[in-house]
Parts: sequence; C-alpha cells; structure tokens
Amino acid sequence: MSAVPAQAVSGGGDPVEVIPGKGTSTPSLVDGIREGAKATGSAADAARGHLADKKSRYRIADPGRDLKPVQTVSTGTSETVRLQQKHRGVDVLGGQYVVRMEKKDGKRVVTGTSGKYFTALKADTKADVGEDLAVRRAVAATAAQLGGKRLAKPEQDAKAPALTGTARGLVVLPRGAGVLTQHVTVRGTDPATGEPVLREVYVDAKAGYPVLQYSGIKTFGAPKSAKSAQAAKAKAAGGDEGHHPGVAGSGVKYDGTTVELGLFFDTARGEYIMRDHARMWDTSKNLISTWDARGKDVGEASGRWPDGIKEFGSPNPAFGKDATEAGAVDAHWAAGKVYDYYRKVHGRDGLDGRGGTINSLVGVTYFGLPYVNAFWDGTKMVYGGGDKEYKTLSADLDVVGHEMTHGVVENTANLVYAGQSGAMNEALADYFGNAIAVDAKGMSMDDPEAGLLGGDLCRTKSRRECALRDLNDGATTSKNFLGVGFGTDNGGVHLNSTIFSGALWDIREDLGRTLADRIAYKALTQYMTPLDGFTEGRNAVLAAARDLKVSAKELNTVKRSFNAHGIVPNWEEALGVDSDQLLGKLNTAGSGVGAGGGWWATSKSNDDGTEAYSIWAGRTDGSGAPKLISPNDGRYHVNPATDGKTVVWAAYGTAGVDVLSRPLAGGPVKKLYSTSTDDIAGLRVEGAVTVFEKMNLFGGRHVGYLKAGDKEPTWVDGGGADVGSALPSLSGGRIAYAKAYQQDGSFTTGVEVLDLKDGKKTLMKQLGTVQGIGQTGITSRYVFWLADEVLDQGQAAVRRAGLDGSDVVDIRKETGEGALIPVGLTASETAVTVTSQLPDTKYRNETMSKLWQLSTDGSVAGRVSCNRGEQVSAAAAGDRRVVWIDGTTGSTDLVTRNRPAGNCG
Ligand SMILES: [Zn+2]
Repeated sequence: MSAVPAQAVSGGGDPVEVIPGKGTSTPSLVDGIREGAKATGSAADAARGHLADKKSRYRIADPGRDLKPVQTVSTGTSETVRLQQKHRGVDVLGGQYVVRMEKKDGKRVVTGTSGKYFTALKADTKADVGEDLAVRRAVAATAAQLGGKRLAKPEQDAKAPALTGTARGLVVLPRGAGVLTQHVTVRGTDPATGEPVLREVYVDAKAGYPVLQYSGIKTFGAPKSAKSAQAAKAKAAGGDEGHHPGVAGSGVKYDGTTVELGLFFDTARGEYIMRDHARMWDTSKNLISTWDARGKDVGEASGRWPDGIKEFGSPNPAFGKDATEAGAVDAHWAAGKVYDYYRKVHGRDGLDGRGGTINSLVGVTYFGLPYVNAFWDGTKMVYGGGDKEYKTLSADLDVVGHEMTHGVVENTANLVYAGQSGAMNEALADYFGNAIAVDAKGMSMDDPEAGLLGGDLCRTKSRRECALRDLNDGATTSKNFLGVGFGTDNGGVHLNSTIFSGALWDIREDLGRTLADRIAYKALTQYMTPLDGFTEGRNAVLAAARDLKVSAKELNTVKRSFNAHGIVPNWEEALGVDSDQLLGKLNTAGSGVGAGGGWWATSKSNDDGTEAYSIWAGRTDGSGAPKLISPNDGRYHVNPATDGKTVVWAAYGTAGVDVLSRPLAGGPVKKLYSTSTDDIAGLRVEGAVTVFEKMNLFGGRHVGYLKAGDKEPTWVDGGGADVGSALPSLSGGRIAYAKAYQQDGSFTTGVEVLDLKDGKKTLMKQLGTVQGIGQTGITSRYVFWLADEVLDQGQAAVRRAGLDGSDVVDIRKETGEGALIPVGLTASETAVTVTSQLPDTKYRNETMSKLWQLSTDGSVAGRVSCNRGEQVSAAAAGDRRVVWIDGTTGSTDLVTRNRPAGNCG
C-alpha cells in the first residue's frame, strides 16, 4: 500500500535507538528517527504505511490487515496513533503498537514507535468451545477461586448463583504461537466476603480451560490511617465566563475549607445539583456530576449503574452539612481539580481525552456496613462512605486523583491490571494522584510527608499512620519485589507499585514538578503499551525524556532514579531463594500439586505458557528426571494426586471433565469417571482407592470415591441437594471430609471420617459453633481440619481429633497471638503444614501466603521456607518434607525443602 518512500528527513544527527522486543521480532522501541510519511490522508494510514515501508525493521507482514487503528491523539504538531494487533481478524491481548509522528507545514515525519506486536502467532482461529461453555467454565473457575477453600452452610447454595458471566468474543493470548481464547467477564459478589467481583477470564477455546484471569476493578487499596488535609484556596465564586447553564455554588470540605462548586439549577427538582457545566463548555459540553449513592451496595455500583440514584442537591447554592458529611463536596471539588490538572498541565480534555462525562458515586456501603475503599470500574469513580476512623474516601485529593488517573491510563497505554503492567498502572495512578494533591496543597517536594498516599483520610490518626503507601518508601526490585500469582492482589499490582512509582517520584524531586510530570505523561500517553513491565516502563520514560530534549545531566538523573529502585534490564534473574527447585516455570495457575510415596505430581505448561497443561511426576528428593504422565491430547490435565505408585488427575476438555489414572511405572491411561457439567477437584489416591470432589455451578459440593472395578463413584453424603461434603483427605483406608448437614431443623457443618473397611462414619466433635470448615488432613492417628468459629478476617483454628472423633484440641487457636488465616492444610504422620496468610490490613511481604509447619501437637511451629514470594499448593511428602509452588522469582516453580527453615526472623 501507498506511502511516500521512507527516507531520513533532515535528522539533525539524532541517534537512532532500537530496543528489540522480547519473544517477537518487532522492536519494543524505536527512537531518534525522523522519517517521512504520507502527508495526506489519516494519521493511522500514514502510521501503517510507515510500518509497511520499514518491513526489515518492524517485521510486520501486513500492517494494513493486521493493525486496526484504535486511537489518534493530535496535540499541536504531534500525532500519536495507537494500533491494535489482529491475528486472522481476532484481537491479540496486549498487542498494541504506537507510532509517533509530527505534522507541520504539510509534511509528516515519524519520530518514533513502541509497543508490542507479536510476530510468532500462528494459531488457527476456529473455536471448538462455544460461548456458553466458556461462560460456564469462567464462572465456575471464579467461584472455585473465591469460595472453594471453605465449606460453609448450604443455605447459601440454595440462592441463585452470585456470579454471572458475559461472553466478550475471541481473543488470542500472545504466548508463543498464540492461544485462542473466549474472553468472559464475570460479575457479581464474592460469596465468601460480599466484595464486588469483576473478573476478566480467558478460556482456552480449544479445550475449555480458564488459562488467565484477573480483576477488572481497580481499587485504591485498603487504607490504614490519616490526618486532616490542608486547605486549598477557595476561588472567588461567581465569575460569568460564558453562556453555560451552570452556576457557581459552594460547599464546605471535610477539612472545613469553603470551596467553589460547579452546579446547575434543576427546575424539575427545584434545587441546585452537583452537575458542573462550566469546565467542558468550550469543548464537548459534557458534565462532571457527583451522585448520591449512600445506602447502595458496592455490588450494585461496580460495573453497573445503581437504580434510582440522583445527583446531590441543595435548595440554595451553598451546600450544607449533609453534603459535607456525605463526602459529596470533597468528591465534586476534587473531580474538578483533577480535570483542571490534566487540562491545564497536559492539554488533556478529561479522562478519555475527548471531554467525556465524569461521574463520581459517593457513599456506597458494604452489605449495610462501612466500605473503606474506592475504585474505578472502567466508567466511573465509586467511593465508599468510610467509617468511624476513615472519612469518605473522596476526602483526600490524592485518592480522587488516583482513581481518575486509572481512567486516563485506561484511555491511553491501557496497562493490563495484573503483574508488572498492573503495578505500573497503580504506580502511574499514585504518581499523578499524589502530584495533583501535593501541588494543590502547596506542599514542598522536600516535605517528608509529600510522598504519602491517602494520608488525609483519617479522623484521628496521624498522616503517616493513616497513609496507605509512601512514594518515598525506597522500595527496590531486589529488596521488595513480591512474586505472587494472579490470585493475590492481581499479581502484586499494589504490592509492587512503589518500586516503579518511587522511581518516578525521585525524578519529580530531582527534576522538578513541571518537567517530571511532562516526562511521565508523555511516557504514559505516547510510549507505553498494555503489557509493558518495569524494564519497558524505564525505556518509555527515558525515551520520553529524550524526546523532550532534556540535558544529558537530566537524562542521567532519570537513569539513576530507575537504577536506585533496581529497575534495570533482567533484574528478575537476581532474586534468590532458599528452596530446591523440582520443576521450573510451570506457567500454570490453580492447577494443584500432589505428593506421596516419595513422588510429586503437578501440572505444567511449556516455557511460554502456550500449551495445554500436562501432568508431570518426579521424585521428591530431586533424583531422576521428571516424567510426563498425561496424554498430549489438547486437554488441560490438572489437580493431580499420587501415592508413589499411581497418579490420578482431572482432564478438562470440550465434552466435560474426566478423572484419569495412570501407574507411575507406565501403562495405559484409565478413565475412572466423567462429568459433562461439574468441576472436579481435591483428588486423592491410595492403592486402589481414588477420592475427589465435584462442584456444580450453584456451589453444591459432594465428595465421592471409587474402589477397584467401581463403575460409578459412591458419594459419601448420598449426593442429595440438601447435603454437602468437600475438601477430602485419604489415608489408611479412611476418608476425612468437611460435611454440611441438617440437625434439629437447621444446617450445620462438621468433619466426618468414613472407614472404607466397614463403611462406618464417625462425626468429629467440635469445640464451639462452627461457621465454616476448611481443608481436612488424615493420618494413622489423627484427623486435622481448619475450623472457623468466629466471624473475623478469615482466621481459623487448626483443629485435631482422634480417629474416633474425641480428644478434640486446637493445635493453633483461631484468635490471639499467632492466629493464622489458613487456606490449605496437608498432613504427614509427624507434621501438619498450613498454607496461610497472617491477619493484616495491608499487603506486606511478611503476611503473604506462606507455609507454616506445626508438630502434630502444635508445640513446635516454624516456617517451611523464608522465600520472599508467595507460597501455595503445599503437599506433604512424608515426615517434614513439603512440596509447593513458589512465586518468588515471578515465575511459578515447583520447589521443596526436606526440613522446614524454622524462624525467618
Ligand atoms: Zn488503583
């Protein structure tokens, strides 16, 4: 197609910099060029013409066919074109390429490009899995992840599903040759906590297994403390600067300052309402509105618009105490401030850059209880009403700036809200949110409190105590990076954000606010693309700085800031661990680990995560080479268990889920059980006995077992709709499981042991009234389980009974010092290992999911490993040895230690 032959136009001796892409032949950054492009026609066509003309540099076979324009932003003479990669007409997740141009005097030149274009994609785009199955699997996977760790009372099961899925069409995941997926958005409320759920799930369109999921809700976090905000100057009200129908009113912020508010007199309501007509009057004429959502539940306000809400109103233009107390004055004033910042400083018209309406919903609650958080849900800001200590979340300008900046990010680089790109999304929200607040308060960048986020939210605590994050916390990749899976904080989006935002904040301290903000904004809007990590982020900021013609000294300052936070190429490789690796880079999620008889079994994908999962097994002492156990048939093979002789597992395919079995010594794969509708988890095997749990879409759960020659499983609870059983363990011919049943006309939960020799069932005694039961573990002497009796943050006791159900004792109590928030348990004859977080209100390395090992009487306790990252899916492998999945290095590795590390200091 077309185009002026590309040639260097002038150039002025600018160096050409080309940074190669990872796993693709298209460079991730090209900078310092001035190459002519077609001057007539659209910017998008000129951009694609450039990529076509420079085929040897970009390696993009057919830009006209495979790159679809998504956005062109023109400011002054500069044009930034964002192009979405298509593979055979299907969107590629995170495949976005940016072309920067200059148009002046009827000429166009390309000044640089960046982003991700995946050149290795070959996958065919014919889906074998339809939208219905994909939605079912996505909802089931989300439900299992949220509620699968505890068996609660079954009256919750009777309700309609708390989660619903919407098919969003086909998407290719850019791994290797590409993985074709059905994209499903799952919405609803977490059945366990009532928190809003908005999750993007990608279901393999060939086999029906969910291969990627992350949250679509971008929260501020869980704030800790606060202090009263300093006043911003109230502007003189009243100036008549146009013909918009708005009026200037006023209100009193939480901190007592009177501020001007943009209002509108609504004749139908006969009162003034919080609807600002003035700010966008000269462009789109759209509005900034602040809505009264008091009493609405977070679930009603996330991803949808609550019924019957109205903008805040007042009989006269000076809003009274009620609006102040509701947080409405702060929210409405702050939304205007943030709008003004982006307009005045960066020439950006609103969050979407096109003067789109800006809505803030204030005062939502959490099942009638205080909700202490705030979030951007893709279209609007939602603020919780706060509680006794925390003010309404709109009461700190940096929180408002943070949430609104998520809107700016979404309309520019659109950084995927998971892992490193998600941490950068958070970092940019914090950087700009805090920059806006610090400048509005007239604070010096040298003020020790200038880096605090959310410091003004508290009624009694000091700013420092109240703040959730500090951009001056000095976090580095080597000391502070937390390797977690998508199940935790979306892969560390808040946990790891200050590593990146800290570098940006240092730049602001050293280069001054004006230049630093320009560099950061340029990097965000013209260089970064959705899947960028820290290193690409560094490259983007450096390139943006060069583009702004900073001095060599200033450029060095930028480099030094990233170096100081450990953001240097290949930093991931320098993180250390204290465990022995059994199998590296599993590249799987939620697929389980089994161990027994000196062997382990786990699921693995290939190096770039493109293959359906396979089952691998090996010796727990690390000797010998791991063996591939499952057939290579395109299905996802997950949740394995082994007794050292046989491996059993679940295989997910388009027709349903099979329970399969194969001897470790080799031989044919046997199908033990098949279901077309249910999920299968919790597999256990011992000799000829296989145990598993099935879960239906409504959360109904039943434990079943198969003995040699059985055609159908026997359900330990009979399989009826009014009973439930879950979370089984198996040892010595006995199955232990959590059980929900009716007693004296009401439902209760407990733990039962079934002896397969005589069919006798024994109910374990409990110490109090049990609200929920977690994972069970059984040995030749004891039954262990997690018992949740107190409504708290999820703490549970580690409880033990004799096999006859008596001598019940808590070897770790649910309350008091040392209480755990356990999600998993695995037992050997000598030790019980619990996967647990510690009670905390914010994410810290010390309180993330770790393995705690207790002696069977609880008298000896210690950490299995002092690895910094997340430790999950523990399986006891005899005596004190444990095998688990470790996230420390940012990949998912199967590791072990034969003895626990003990005290991690
Ligand atoms: Zn955020």
